[in-house]
Amino acid sequence: MFGQFYTMLADVLVAPKRTPALAVCCIDIDNFSALNSDFGMAMGDQVLHELEARLGRFLGPSDFMARSAGDQFYLCLDVSDKKPIFRQLKEQIEIPFRLGEHICSLTASIGIALVTSQQKSPDRAIRNALHACITVKNNGGGRYEIFDDEGLLIQHNKSALLREITAALSDNQFQLFLQPKVNLADGRLAGFEALIRWYHPERGIISPLNFLPVIAHTDTEILVGHFVLDQGIELLKLLRTLDCNVSLSLNISPRQITDALFRRQIEQYATQYPQLIRQLCLEILESDSFDNLQLIQDYLRAYQACGISLSLDDFGTGFASLNNLMKLPLNEVKIDRNFIQDINTNSVHQIVVRHIVELSAALELSTVAEGIETAAEYMTVKKLGVQLAQGYYFERPFPSSELSTWLAEHSSSLIR
Ligand code: C2E
Ligand code: MG
Repeated sequence: MFGQFYTMLADVLVAPKRTPALAVCCIDIDNFSALNSDFGMAMGDQVLHELEARLGRFLGPSDFMARSAGDQFYLCLDVSDKKPIFRQLKEQIEIPFRLGEHICSLTASIGIALVTSQQKSPDRAIRNALHACITVKNNGGGRYEIFDDEGLLIQHNKSALLREITAALSDNQFQLFLQPKVNLADGRLAGFEALIRWYHPERGIISPLNFLPVIAHTDTEILVGHFVLDQGIELLKLLRTLDCNVSLSLNISPRQITDALFRRQIEQYATQYPQLIRQLCLEILESDSFDNLQLIQDYLRAYQACGISLSLDDFGTGFASLNNLMKLPLNEVKIDRNFIQDINTNSVHQIVVRHIVELSAALELSTVAEGIETAAEYMTVKKLGVQLAQGYYFERPFPSSELSTWLAEHSSSLIR
């Protein structure tokens, strides 16, 4: 199938009257293995057939397509009219599929290579489309990225940045910040969340949002996870010496969960510091990319067996929120800031939060509201029964090197 696509593309590119604006798209379905494991392989195949038919109907008279690997498709599209064709393509893929009594939704990583009229070889177009697709996949999927020559340049810059981050890690340029978690019942400190920052020698403090996507799915991501865990243990020791036995939450990437070395490191710490480890909480990013659910469950149970508690971060934002809540061994749910920031004006969000609280109580999970910025938000989440909260209203994240001073200044309630 793909060979035929390649030949057709080669013919189109050298045709004397070819359309001036062509695009080659590489579509890779996100987390397809999760769909297979949730619904079974037969259902998975049915979805792919229906998707293939749907994409077929999307094609214009001179367009063509092929299915390459199991869940990967290549399309060649005439993009000479001004329709928002790429957005429409993405929307087509995301229309839910009905599978008997089930409904399932897909997202895809879509890489697009624009093909100039001078380009005569299909190889570069296919390679650029694949590169763009991988870029999207590495940044969480569910989007399209267009690669022209400039796009390739961005990819090169990304590799340079990755090298810089890896070197910065050996050079101790990272530090954890801490943000308090407040117990809403009495306003007292319940724990801290550690948030990484990059102290760049020229550019100053860099937010994780600007460097974590660059290291996603690379070995550096795993190294950063090890760094965070080591620092976390040091902070727990410090908290002990300061006679403050509250919890410390660390964020871990979905890939880190099933890193065998990370698990060994945790188990070693659990043997060495059995008391400290009970104060540790791992925050797992709410994600639909839990590809191998069985393996993830096994690892998470092993962490819990060490005495660590597990929190589902940014809850409510992913497609698979409820699925994750049911299937993962958890102790805590962090309600995403999206639901909090307009909680007093958006009645739907208020209903969602109320139901998350009820569901969590039924599942014996504690709840944390993220991103509380105002007294009004604080009062509403408290009224809705949320147990813990975090946000600028109580305290902004501060450098962990200031922990002792901070504790000395904040011995009583954090609520104004
Ligand atoms: P997160 O885990 O959801 O962390 C909460 C983010 O919200 C933090 O951003 C925090 O500074 C910010 N925040 C806290 N209160 C408020 C508020 O009242 N208003 C607003 N607008 N924001 C608030 P930050 O530190 O930039 O971290 C962003 C994300 O980066 C984190 O989101 C987490 O997913 C990730 N991250 C941070 N540190 C680490 C880490 O050590 N390892 C990993 N894997 N991810 C990390
Ligand atoms: Mg977090």
